[in-house]
Amino acid sequence: MKTCPKYTFGVGDRFANGAHAQLTAFIEAKKLGIDITPVWNKSNREHNIIGSEPSQTREAADKAVADLGWTGEYLLDADHINLSTVDRFVAPCDFFTLDVADDIGEAADPSDVAAFIAKHPELIGTVSIEGISEPFEITRADVEKTANQFLKATQKAAAIYQHIVAAKGGVDNFVTEVSMDETDSPQTPPELLVILAAIADQGIPIQTIAPKFTGRFNKGVDYVGDPLQFEKEFNDDLAVIAHAIKTYGLPPALKLSVHSGSDKFSIYPYIKKAIQRTGAGLHIKTAGTNWLEEIVGLAESGGEGLALAKKIYAKALEKKAALCEPYATVIDIKDSNLPSAEEVNGWTSTQYTDALRHIPTNPGYNADLRQLLHVGFKIAAQLEDTYIQALKDNSEVVAKNVTGNLLDRHMKPLFL
Ligand SMILES: [Zn+2]
Repeated sequence: MKTCPKYTFGVGDRFANGAHAQLTAFIEAKKLGIDITPVWNKSNREHNIIGSEPSQTREAADKAVADLGWTGEYLLDADHINLSTVDRFVAPCDFFTLDVADDIGEAADPSDVAAFIAKHPELIGTVSIEGISEPFEITRADVEKTANQFLKATQKAAAIYQHIVAAKGGVDNFVTEVSMDETDSPQTPPELLVILAAIADQGIPIQTIAPKFTGRFNKGVDYVGDPLQFEKEFNDDLAVIAHAIKTYGLPPALKLSVHSGSDKFSIYPYIKKAIQRTGAGLHIKTAGTNWLEEIVGLAESGGEGLALAKKIYAKALEKKAALCEPYATVIDIKDSNLPSAEEVNGWTSTQYTDALRHIPTNPGYNADLRQLLHVGFKIAAQLEDTYIQALKDNSEVVAKNVTGNLLDRHMKPLFL
């Protein structure tokens, strides 16, 4: 098993053009004493939408690391893969996010459920966990229900894991994450405990786990929900993880992974407090926020860059239904708040960047426009060279926005 560094930060390079600007944020953070490992993550879904290959993400990351002289670790995440999609990620990746969200709820073999319950009497009754004031009261029926809901998913995760081990020719060179975030109902801390016991039984050396938390983790915008409830749940999950490491022999580096973690400004203070208090690690995925900064940069550049940013918005608005469909569980767009293409066409650079740049206190900020553009990267992909050339023509302004967004709005509030 490759040990996962304590703080890892997922960045997304949708068009294999932003790795330098992203890595610059990690270099600047390191100067401030923040030691974070970049993990370039791009899901199968994103590769399919763009028509790219994981090997291209690898090339861009390797090049940025070499050009900027980064001597720290860095990883490449096969994000949200399953048995049918993992193969093209095997060679270039060293971090695998096994996505079993779709398998939650699929009935496990009744004899497997019975065997799980028989093996884990410690999960039934009053379960005290260090760091959680109220012990969990878990009945046999609760364990049975949770096992019925999640056991099959953990078995499928094991099958993906074993497939990767076979394809990689060993267990030594990669980090394993299990993700369950893209589903409708959140997992409670007692459920997480049962899930971790099941994952340990399956022999998966997971080092990061992405549960679905309560509240909405919409793409590219702030958390929607009660931050204090999130804080309690996050703290309880950390305690459950520490307990599961001890009880089930899971890897000591096991930590929480926050998916759709970019731009969740209202909960960053609680995450920061929790990891500083407990010494726990953290993995946070912030992929799509980077592509939005490319658009901010184009808009800020004015001229043809601004014209292209307007064109992308107009097309995204036109294709809204199709663009939103793959992201239904992680966006919430209020149509009535979306400006018309005509209105946006009349905007200045400042009007566009005010609407898109994630500064919630700016009266011009529009979270609905931001979410639409977040899922609108397919439009840029369809523009092919025109889009890439625009990024190159305006590289300085684009890079300034990409780096500044990661460093100032994400890394500093989380880790400084
Ligand atoms: Zn996710």
